[in-house]
Amino acid sequence: MAQRVATSDGGNKKTSRVRVAVRLRPYMTTPDQKDDGPCVRGLDSQNLEIINWRNATETVKYHFDAFHDEQTTQQEVFLSSVKPILPHILQGQNASVFAYGPTGAGKTHTMLGSSEQPGVIPRAVREVFNLVKAKDEDEGWSYSIGMSYLEIYNEKVLDLLSPNSQDLPIREDKDKNILIPGLNHTTISSFSDFDKHFVPATLNRTTASTKLNQRSSRSHAILLIKVVRTQRASPRRQQTGKLYLVDLAGSEDNRRTGNQGIRLKESGAINLSLFTLSKVVDSLNSGTSIRVPYRDSKLTRLLQDSLGGSAHSVMITNIAPEYKYYFDTFSALNFAAKSKLIVNKPFTRETVAVPVLPVKRAREEHEAGSSGT
Ligand code: ADP
Ligand code: MG
Repeated sequence: MAQRVATSDGGNKKTSRVRVAVRLRPYMTTPDQKDDGPCVRGLDSQNLEIINWRNATETVKYHFDAFHDEQTTQQEVFLSSVKPILPHILQGQNASVFAYGPTGAGKTHTMLGSSEQPGVIPRAVREVFNLVKAKDEDEGWSYSIGMSYLEIYNEKVLDLLSPNSQDLPIREDKDKNILIPGLNHTTISSFSDFDKHFVPATLNRTTASTKLNQRSSRSHAILLIKVVRTQRASPRRQQTGKLYLVDLAGSEDNRRTGNQGIRLKESGAINLSLFTLSKVVDSLNSGTSIRVPYRDSKLTRLLQDSLGGSAHSVMITNIAPEYKYYFDTFSALNFAAKSKLIVNKPFTRETVAVPVLPVKRAREEHEAGSSGT
């Protein structure tokens, strides 16, 4: 993905690639924690480097379509990575935005945010309403906006707008549109109307998650915003554009946390869907005609018509700078980047204390907890 030239508006290419952005959240210390300093840092708007645990005198440098450093605001992430794709969904095209990364690295902050710092979801929904409002009546189309909200947990598709939802099937119609029969789809007339449905469903999910031990980090939350436009005059053509906004399950290596039983089953489902997602993104971005393995997981099957093809997609990989995230950061970066470069240059010489000890500790934990990645 890294060195290729973006062809994001897809017009001249059959399959559009997935834009990959990385967002580094600010360093956070807890009072009782020894301050190890960061193990990763940004270089410029497309590059970052991380210390190489195999050799602390080296760094590994990665290149992405965009790199958002720890000072980047919610507004800036939205403007650069999300806003440009939204006009397409008013023209019957599909789009998807997903947040990837280990638990604690900022996926929910990026997608949902808080009332003081709203994230991609509220900003995108507002923008879709603004775009529709700004449409000239003379163009001859009327628009309607609707939403669905679901979660994929343990390879089950559950409706978040309907409490006690059962596992729902994913189907494909004759035009290759993916649909979920039985999933609630609610027309929304304004942003506050959206909020009225979205907030309680999100709260439900969060409450359930504390009971079910962090369920929210073990399932994929998927918000669908659908824009249908209909020609006012005959032949009254109709076009549907879909926007998927996805907060993915945590990408951390579950083998290291000693998971058993239900947790282990969850891990298997998460690994399957994230691994399949990485294969899908790889085959889309490699530009070759190898089979895109959408059908290998529920997540990629559901996103099939909104990821690749004529769709506009962006993956925001969230990473954290602290040493305890080191191996999860490393694997998230390898997931996101196609190319990386080992640079023979110590990471911290001029900025923070030499991090030899923490790296050694992280490596030992890694080697103790898993049998080779
Ligand atoms: P995840 O959803 O990936 O598990 P969260 O979004 O819950 O991670 O983020 C973990 C913590 O870090 C939260 O307290 C969140 O508010 C904070 N955080 C994440 N990203 C940022 C950021 N860019 N700026 C400030 N705080 C952040
Ligand atoms: Mg989260």
